[in-house]
Amino acid sequence: RLHNTILELKGNIRVFCRVRPLLPDDGAATEAPVISYPTSVESLGRGIDLIQSGNKYPFTFDKVFDHEASQQDIFVEISQLVQSALDGYKVCIFAYGQTGSGKTYTMMGRPEAQEEKGLIPRSLEQIFQSSQSLQAQGWKYKMQASMLEIYNETIRDLLSINRPIASESAVSGKQYTIKHDANGNTHVSDLTVVDVSSIAEISSLLRQAAQSRSVGRTHMNEQSSRSHMVFTLRISGVNEATEQQVQGVLNLIDLAGSERLSRSGATGDRLKETQAINKSLSSLSDVIFALAKKEEHVPYRNSKLTYLLQPCLGGDSKTLMFVNVSPDPTSVGESLCSLRFAARVN
Ligand code: ADP
Ligand code: MG
Repeated sequence: RLHNTILELKGNIRVFCRVRPLLPDDGAATEAPVISYPTSVESLGRGIDLIQSGNKYPFTFDKVFDHEASQQDIFVEISQLVQSALDGYKVCIFAYGQTGSGKTYTMMGRPEAQEEKGLIPRSLEQIFQSSQSLQAQGWKYKMQASMLEIYNETIRDLLSINRPIASESAVSGKQYTIKHDANGNTHVSDLTVVDVSSIAEISSLLRQAAQSRSVGRTHMNEQSSRSHMVFTLRISGVNEATEQQVQGVLNLIDLAGSERLSRSGATGDRLKETQAINKSLSSLSDVIFALAKKEEHVPYRNSKLTYLLQPCLGGDSKTLMFVNVSPDPTSVGESLCSLRFAARVN
């Protein structure tokens, strides 16, 4: 069996922290570093200290990856979790952090560069390879992919071929209504769902989605930092020898930037956008905290994102959150907010 025991040892939600390298564009790169790592045995590889105005704020997560961690180093640590989707688990992996902290790099990476491919392409390659080797044991898998963006509490289809640039539902009349059926499967009306049976097909889908997202970006004011991107792979497996069946789901989510936009004095459309992001990120944290505390009422319905992911967040599903952090001294305030948020989840 492909069972993942590591993730079953502790609650349902794990948190990994990743610090990106300093970039040439980072402000004040000559200032003293704002991030250090404790060297004590108990926090080795799990601790991170943030230094703001001479104060040291220590945090501990399930794992901490410093700026030298490669995409492969990260993937090694999550491959078991990804694999459990083939066992019939519902898996969610989120990237949380301010804009520019490395969420998209972690999730998608630079797919054109082999070494720099992110979690999404690596996970899909592994799933396809494993599903092929499991054929020898009688397993037959069917995979379906979809990719959407939630922007201002509105769903947009990233795989629709003729995706209009302006407000899609206004143009096409598409509704994208979310429904959960009795088996815990989620359906989004009008959403493009693509049968995928090879890595080549997935690669072309990812290219298409990246293109849809970048079209949105130029035409809609850097929108990608203010929208959540949700990639979903639905896996159904049947074993022809034993007649065993599994239904797994892998959700990979690049969240909207967590920066406190309210400071920027936004008005009009920007204000509406800000409120929508704040609402969905705070709804996500409300849901995660309610689950962590095993509360009876979990407020899934407060945002599109949490309602969409409802069947994949509770029960025996597996959730991992990356908190992405920038080492840029000018971002230290936001980094502290992100780490505090993630520490509460953990
Ligand atoms: P976000 O999606 O959180 O806004 P990005 O993933 O776009 O942030 O990262 C911001 C910039 O930093 C990009 O130019 C990206 O290529 C670069 N970057 C992020 N993480 C890393 C990393 N681990 N190694 C090298 N470059 C990185
Ligand atoms: Mg991004």
